[in-house]
Amino acid sequence: AFSLVWLRNDLRVYDNQALFEACQSGLPVVALFIATPDSWQAHSMAPIKQDFIRRRVQQLGLELAALNIPLLAIEGSDYAAVPELMQQLIEAGAEALYGHNEYELRERLRDRKSSDIFARSGKACFWFDRKAVMPPGTILSKTGGIYQIFTPFKKTWLARLREVGIGCFPKPKALAETKLQLPELPLMKKGDGTSLAYAVDELLVLEQMRQFCRDKVAHYQAERDFPALQGTSSLSAYLAIGVVSAQQCISRLQLEAANDWDREKSGAAVWLSELVWRDFYHHILMAFPQLIKHKAFQKDTDGIVWPNNTKLFQAWCDGQTGYPIVDAAMRQLNQTGWMHNRLRMIVASFLVKDLHIDWRWGEQYFMSKLIDGDFAANNGGWQWAASTGTDAAPYFRIFNPVTQSERFDPDGVFIKRMLPELADVAKKQIHWPHPLPLWSDYVKPIVDHGKARLKTLELFHTVKKPQ
Ligand code: FAD
Repeated sequence: AFSLVWLRNDLRVYDNQALFEACQSGLPVVALFIATPDSWQAHSMAPIKQDFIRRRVQQLGLELAALNIPLLAIEGSDYAAVPELMQQLIEAGAEALYGHNEYELRERLRDRKSSDIFARSGKACFWFDRKAVMPPGTILSKTGGIYQIFTPFKKTWLARLREVGIGCFPKPKALAETKLQLPELPLMKKGDGTSLAYAVDELLVLEQMRQFCRDKVAHYQAERDFPALQGTSSLSAYLAIGVVSAQQCISRLQLEAANDWDREKSGAAVWLSELVWRDFYHHILMAFPQLIKHKAFQKDTDGIVWPNNTKLFQAWCDGQTGYPIVDAAMRQLNQTGWMHNRLRMIVASFLVKDLHIDWRWGEQYFMSKLIDGDFAANNGGWQWAASTGTDAAPYFRIFNPVTQSERFDPDGVFIKRMLPELADVAKKQIHWPHPLPLWSDYVKPIVDHGKARLKTLELFHTVKKPQ
């Protein structure tokens, strides 16, 4: 007999409550990971993220082996195959199932079915809520409602943090060696190596997080908006699949920035605020599952008929719009699987409000490329930029991509890094190098921002009263 820990977006041995509790059960522990490429495809998961998960799971197998916990890393197809697998594991001796709650719909359904199978065999399931720092449903307004605006959510969230503090689970102690008879199942395949730029060793990732909290977070507020700088933590890929938890980040932040994390506008407080945004979108997703079904949060905006010009969309995807900051950003995404937050806001706004393309197209494209793709954060970010979401940018506030470029990449350092065809353009012209020097083969602008802006207002006025 053994306890079964099912790992999903919690691919770590430190601060892993499900793993920790299973190790307290007194039984040998078996860890399980199921690769489900068909489901990943259905979620538009980027190949680089798929590779990253596979590499991390392999490494995790070694880390767990050192604790005498075998990891069954299985190649499945989609979630439909999970119940049959659970049945096989029960027959092989699984006495109880341990895992962390997921917040997306299909994942919740998958987990409910697995729980049912365990329950039918008279076995227990233990689900823990650790994906968000404060579990969904625990941060409510005075009248018990779900916050739809970030600022009051954050206020209550911080009050709760001061009240309950933050705790992390230690790495479990090594268990006694046992020989288990486990079923023969198809082993997880190797990835294609596209994510090699990302370390998968848990201790290295923890060190990166600690280093950021120690050496960089004080400058976060000043540097975080400038894509040419390394001003942010670059932890998103790890947070997305749970190599590190947000709880570990906050706990370390409180240690390193003891006087600052609760001091408004300090680098530490602003970074913490980003982790609160992460929780906010998780909470919104749990409370409004229609978001998973591709619905806008502000229902009226689903009445907008977006022109959806496919040529313009392709130019945006390829980083060929003639707007240097947009093109540099899209090439960063295409080449590395990651994009700086300021740039995500600029290109999302550009797709919707300059090219008049449905935000869902951009949301899906991002998912298909991002190593840190996360439904709640991505959907939240897109609906914010498109002015269709909860607490979104007002529809009449439209980013001017050239002004944004001047503010956040003043010397064009980032643009030149990503767009070699503009390497010799003078600083003054880099944000808008049109008309181009004769030697340049950089593309001409595909839209006129001024005209596009007016058209956006018209589109929104078909469903909203003019402001
Ligand atoms: P840091 O600035 O160091 O922030 C620390 C962590 O806080 C991040 O790693 C992330 O987990 C969280 N975080 C920061 N900003 C946000 C935010 N606005 N919303 C939710 N969580 C946040 N983030 C994702 O993790 N996955 C996505 O798929 C994703 N898609 C986005 C799409 C759009 C259109 C926009 C505008 C933002 C999106 N973000 C997404 C949020 C943000 O851009 C990234 O989290 C950030 O750029 C990651 O870099 P970092 O780890 O250096 O962040």
